[in-house]
Amino acid sequence: MKPRIGILGAGQLALMLAEASKSLGVDVICAGQPGDCAEQAAEVLTVDLDDIAAVAAFAGAVDLVTIESENIHADVLQGLNLYPNARAVGIAQDRLLEKRFFHECGIGTAPFAPVDSLEALQHAMDKVQLPAILKTRRMGYDGKGQVRLRNIEDAADAWADVGGVPCILEGMVNFEIEVSLIAARARAGQIVFYPLIENRHREGILRMSIAPFVNQQLQKQAEDYLTALLERLDYIGVLAVEFFVVDGTLLANEMAPRVHNSGHWTIEGSATSQFENHLRAIVGMELGATKSSPTVMLNCIGSMPSETETSAFPEISRHDYGKEPRPGRKVGHLTFPASARAAIAEWQKRLQD
Ligand code: AMP
Repeated sequence: MKPRIGILGAGQLALMLAEASKSLGVDVICAGQPGDCAEQAAEVLTVDLDDIAAVAAFAGAVDLVTIESENIHADVLQGLNLYPNARAVGIAQDRLLEKRFFHECGIGTAPFAPVDSLEALQHAMDKVQLPAILKTRRMGYDGKGQVRLRNIEDAADAWADVGGVPCILEGMVNFEIEVSLIAARARAGQIVFYPLIENRHREGILRMSIAPFVNQQLQKQAEDYLTALLERLDYIGVLAVEFFVVDGTLLANEMAPRVHNSGHWTIEGSATSQFENHLRAIVGMELGATKSSPTVMLNCIGSMPSETETSAFPEISRHDYGKEPRPGRKVGHLTFPASARAAIAEWQKRLQD
């Protein structure tokens, strides 16, 4: 019998997991809403992901469950046969627990302080120097739930802007570059790493990933950090950690307990993609090799270029998630071999808007 994997969510990450499942001999079924983009590659059952009983019923009909987003209420995840485990997801979905856990594992971060009232924010500003960012502890992604503070007088407006929910105040770091490391850990404890990836963001949204970012010392530091996180959490599946490079060393920004946008290039650029390795890990298979070739990924934000435009560039691997265009929405991505410099430069320009 083929293992049946249930994915909570049916967006583009679920779509690419479902695509990777085809050659692996595992079945994928998603919990989502009609019209979600994973419908292109898998059955999508209509399930309200806030409804504990509905999610439990979905999980009861599959062998194991995984997630494509960490923003699922912790109560819904309790008691499921979940990979990665609920503790790992619970830490990753709360910026305060996440930052404290990084410190427990000996991993540095930007200075931070918890904030749960305007008074606490004023107090936190004494501890964390300005400029700083007020970030909601939960439900933040792509720069959402974040307000920048430059002056002490910004406090009241910033607190109102985040809606007065529990936050952390985080000091702005003057980073040289942003990188991420993606790793997978199998049930038997085997760990594989992809090369470090350089990531370029604009308005809090990832625009471009360049792999590999070659720096042996930082690669080793990042691998040691992820090994500590994976082993302490008894983690199974793919884990991605985003770092700032500051003064030649790594400060962790956040971790994603799932496949990650900065690893989409692995579909074309690695012997085994992050999607396949996540599925391999959670069903108990051995992990595939991560030997990679230099590759660049550009996100398509807001709208997808036409097929006529992209087909004029044979170097492009086009991924259209089939989503309705909307400002700020990730609707697809383009992957290039890093040697296709002229095409990359051209498309960087075209995708700026
Ligand atoms: P996040 O949602 O925390 O990943 O933040 C989105 C982006 O905002 C990051 O990728 C950085 O480009 C920027 N950012 C977040 N936190 C900081 C920080 N403490 N210092 C400087 N830039 C930051």
